[in-house]
Amino acid sequence: MQLGVIDIGGTFVKYAAVDEEGAFLFHGSVPTEAAKGGEALVAKVQRLCDELMGKVQLDGISISSAGQIDNVNGRVVFATDTLPGYTGTELAQRISAHTGLPAYVENDVNCTALGEYWKGAARGTRDFLCVTIGTGIGGALFLNGELYTGSHFSAGEIGHINLYPNGTLCTCGQSGCYEQYASSLALQRRVTEQFGEGWELKAYFEQVKAGNREAVQLFEHWLDDLTTGLQTLVHLLNPELIVIGGGISAQGDFLQQTVLSSLENKIMPNHRQSLQIKMAEHDNKSNLLGAAKNFLDKSGMEQVSN
Ligand SMILES: [Zn+2]
Repeated sequence: MQLGVIDIGGTFVKYAAVDEEGAFLFHGSVPTEAAKGGEALVAKVQRLCDELMGKVQLDGISISSAGQIDNVNGRVVFATDTLPGYTGTELAQRISAHTGLPAYVENDVNCTALGEYWKGAARGTRDFLCVTIGTGIGGALFLNGELYTGSHFSAGEIGHINLYPNGTLCTCGQSGCYEQYASSLALQRRVTEQFGEGWELKAYFEQVKAGNREAVQLFEHWLDDLTTGLQTLVHLLNPELIVIGGGISAQGDFLQQTVLSSLENKIMPNHRQSLQIKMAEHDNKSNLLGAAKNFLDKSGMEQVSN
């Protein structure tokens, strides 16, 4: 089986052809141009499908997308204004009609979790959280061996846990949300405030690791906010693993160790006992792998029920 897989993010749309083992036959990426709106985005995804079908014989299309996704009907149930006009898009139906192929859609962080469960850091793990740290904070709950998506496809919006009542205004309209304090963007803002323009996070982390006192203090403050959010989740769900994805996972062992030691000080003994922290292994390909896994699971289920 060969699948076209597409990952719609706020900045880039990644696309690839993969086989049923998750091997990449081709991959590429183009800018999302989110400001052009939902219709332009659908047309772009349709063109990418055409390109993929021109290169590889495909059996289906599977999409990982930003936003809250009805994964049964492949519909966007909610997207913020970063993707204007995207809410309500019947994505699976539009792509299926365009290509003549079966199409599925799943939320992008859920796809990260599925990709890491299938081929990465969460292989064989029945209860884990996937936390993606980037411009915001995304979450996926993988519980009892499967994704938990809530009563209406919107579980795991952990970026909007309230961390500071009456705090910084958030894109969701509330204030004091977790992602306003513990995302990469939040850290970048604080770094710029303290050290001036031109400090990228990669260079900043070098200063932290080198023991620069000001850099370390700022890092510890951010880490404290990050693990306070995780503390709530660990006590609620008692996972055996937290997989950290997003650009920040490039900080690897350093981040893994600092998050674990900070978090261990905030949780009860039995929750601590079995808890591991790992960085996502497939970086920017997890979502594409997860989309493929979603297709294999969903189409397999249909065959069983038929
Ligand atoms: Zn919020």
